[in-house]
Amino acid sequence: MNEIPHYIGGKRVSGTSGRSSDVYNPATGEVEAQVPLASGDELNAAIENAKAAQPSWAAQNPQKRARVMMKFVDLLHRDMDKLAEALSREHGKTIPDAKGDIIRGLEVAEFCIGAPHLLKGEFSEGAGPGIDMHSVRQPLGVVAGITPFNFPAMIPMWKFCPAIVCGNAFILKPSERDPSVPLMLAELMSEAGLPDGVLNVVHGDKEAVDGLLDHEDIMAIGFVGSTPIAEYVYTRGCANGKRVQCFGGAKNHMIIMPDADMDQAVDALIGAGYGAAGERCMAVSVAVPVGEDTADRLMAKLTPRVENLKIAPYTAGDDADFGPLVTKEAHTRVKGYVDAGVSEGAKLVVDGRDFSMQGYEDGFFMGACLFDNVTRDMSIYKEEIFGPVLSVVRAKDYEDGLDLAMSHEYGNGVAIFTRDGDAARDFSSRINIGMVGVNVPIPVPLAYYTFGGWKRSGFGDLNQHGPDAFRFYTRTKTITSRWPSGIKDGAEFSIPTMG
Ligand code: NAD
Repeated sequence: MNEIPHYIGGKRVSGTSGRSSDVYNPATGEVEAQVPLASGDELNAAIENAKAAQPSWAAQNPQKRARVMMKFVDLLHRDMDKLAEALSREHGKTIPDAKGDIIRGLEVAEFCIGAPHLLKGEFSEGAGPGIDMHSVRQPLGVVAGITPFNFPAMIPMWKFCPAIVCGNAFILKPSERDPSVPLMLAELMSEAGLPDGVLNVVHGDKEAVDGLLDHEDIMAIGFVGSTPIAEYVYTRGCANGKRVQCFGGAKNHMIIMPDADMDQAVDALIGAGYGAAGERCMAVSVAVPVGEDTADRLMAKLTPRVENLKIAPYTAGDDADFGPLVTKEAHTRVKGYVDAGVSEGAKLVVDGRDFSMQGYEDGFFMGACLFDNVTRDMSIYKEEIFGPVLSVVRAKDYEDGLDLAMSHEYGNGVAIFTRDGDAARDFSSRINIGMVGVNVPIPVPLAYYTFGGWKRSGFGDLNQHGPDAFRFYTRTKTITSRWPSGIKDGAEFSIPTMG
């Protein structure tokens, strides 16, 4: 059986813990590889490597560090097809979706090429008599990222690109469900010129995560995953004195006002509700038509579109809407939510529970499901399903729709569809959610903006994406200097050369 090794000190390293986890091809349902689950000793060895490599990496000037990112971007383009194939094979998403996953990470690497500018400090001349004051941004040391299965390229790059270009060494603990692409990314960083030991990939489960949370040499941790684990990582990491920032789960609403362009709204719901089988933290899982007439018009257009969604393995071509769920457990969980919705009294308008993919009967495929008349008290409304299931909650007016989204415990993304500028502006201003779309269903900010959920979708400040990442992965030192007065004529100066 193929083993997907750790990557430590610039080399592939086999696991020695004796523990491992199965890696599936979700389309066929077959185990394709084993991923080792690191022991404390294996993790410590990776941290030692990172600690030894970090000072000389930090001492390289920021242009040189940025040039590694430049080369990395080239290599991502060169290997795009290979990376996308590996990603789809383990995750199940379509090839165009897999390329989107890689490109969104690549854009973070591109942003990081601006590190020499982003890392500049501040300077005040004459802060007192003969006194100047300046600040510098210095790397933290060894930092870590713990990432989820659903974006195995983008989210590792969100983390390691800014951390590394700031001069830190990095331990990546990717999801054990689709570990191949993170390993390939680390190898591309080496090929781009990153010194050995600066980026290490350690596969594992709770044992490895706890090891990172408790290790005194790990200075900061960025986590992305489900809310219960995000809370756990945040609490334990902070208690150990680390800088921690965690992104959690989501329940993203899309408000559809009576004046919305209904064709545009339906197109948006198809892509945002069902793309990647709903396994996106920015997926729209709740549609909120405002007024009964809007709801009836929405359902009339949406229902046939949901019934006709094309589900296929990634190998079947690029025109599928989505592929299988990531694991059998995910399939069982999502189906369980649909059963619960039916028994709680929601109207299941499209029922995809019994979908079976011809020729792939053992794959983790599930058909699209659409619920109408969902209410606030139902589990399918309150909890994150993370599958191809869209719930329609009918709001009686704008304030009711706004209140619905504002009252939900999650606050990752939200959207409003309207042609009314007043409604769009009022909504954007009052909503207590981190990322807002106006006629845009998945308002993921570009790499040079902050990405971040509010409420129970995000814990800790200074998100690790966009300019904030350059603060998260550095600390500021302020230096006050008094200069002896008087200029000595005849002093010899030499001007250093810059590499
Ligand atoms: P998950 O919480 O199961 O796993 C995330 C990471 O935590 C993995 O690396 C995993 O190995 C580790 N982990 C799992 N159980 C652990 C435990 N008991 N103790 C310590 N570590 C543990 O999440 P997932 O299923 O891989 O990803 C899906 C979730 O991630 C969804 O809830 C989704 O909304 C969320 N997500 C959020 C964002 C965001 O930006 N807010 C982005 C992507 C995904």
